[in-house]
Amino acid sequence: SPSAIVINGMAEAKKIRDDIKTEVSRMKESIGVVPGLAVILVGENEESATYVRNKKKACKSAGIQSFEVLLPEDSSEEEVLRSVSGFNDDPCVHGILVQLPLPSHMDEQNILNAVSIEKDVDGFHPLNIGRLAMRGGKPLFVPCTPKGCIELLHRYNIGIKGKRAVVIGRSNIVGMPAALLLQREDATVSIIHSKTKNPEEITREADILVSATGQPNMVRGSWIKPGAVVIDVGTKRVEDSSAPCGFRWAGDVCYEEACKVASAITPVPGGVGPMTIAMLLVNTLASAKKIHNFK
Ligand code: NDP
Repeated sequence: SPSAIVINGMAEAKKIRDDIKTEVSRMKESIGVVPGLAVILVGENEESATYVRNKKKACKSAGIQSFEVLLPEDSSEEEVLRSVSGFNDDPCVHGILVQLPLPSHMDEQNILNAVSIEKDVDGFHPLNIGRLAMRGGKPLFVPCTPKGCIELLHRYNIGIKGKRAVVIGRSNIVGMPAALLLQREDATVSIIHSKTKNPEEITREADILVSATGQPNMVRGSWIKPGAVVIDVGTKRVEDSSAPCGFRWAGDVCYEEACKVASAITPVPGGVGPMTIAMLLVNTLASAKKIHNFK
């Protein structure tokens, strides 16, 4: 039976990070500026802490300076806003990200709205999202995970223009911006969410299928059009007593089944995940270059 090409996000991310490292040192040598990324983490969400640790590690190995503020779960919204404002004014900081989710007593929109759009390397500021949605709109930054998905398609020479794309999930951080980006690349896009009836009838039409639900194995082989390209964003921790750490990461797509139908597929882990962090570094470097007018 035919077997899909495995899209190696880990390898592509490594290439991107090496390129960033070269650019960061060129910038430092030419104008004495080191790009800086600030992360604000509120509370003790274990997964968030892991993401932040990985982001810091990636910054360090690329030569990007990282700044961090850790606030307790019971902090006030004002305290978070103060941190944001401090980084907005700090010339050593070129990118600011507020790790989501925030504690439920905070107004997420209010906090994302406070990040300077010039430093909004996560692309979550309403103005950047609005510009992404507008025809001809020019967002300063695009959210990292969907940007990483598109980058993988480009790097594997997978055409998007005129294709039927289906995105499962409509969150602000993945599904919705992924659909907008695909549409900007001239795909014809459908969006599936939890209220969609018979989703498999829609996914079977997709030349490009992006899944971002966090529902392990939801997308079966029978949901996929033969020859389609499948981008699996889902990363859900599932208990696995045979794994050294007691859990493993599961995607949304039933991988073994999908491999027999799709022409190309991203694995989980090692697909979209590493690209997300690489795109964060890309955005941070781009921000520093723009702020310092460095070509
Ligand atoms: P959310 O929970 O915010 O959104 C999930 C979306 O999936 C919602 O739009 C929801 O629909 C939809 N959905 C849930 N269940 C179903 C279903 N049974 N059928 C159809 N649609 C469904 O998650 P995120 O967007 O933040 O993340 C999605 C996944 O991607 C998670 O596994 C997350 O861990 C992963 N992720 C991975 C990243 C990476 O770097 N690899 C980065 C960010 C996220 P509705 O809107 O109706 O509720």
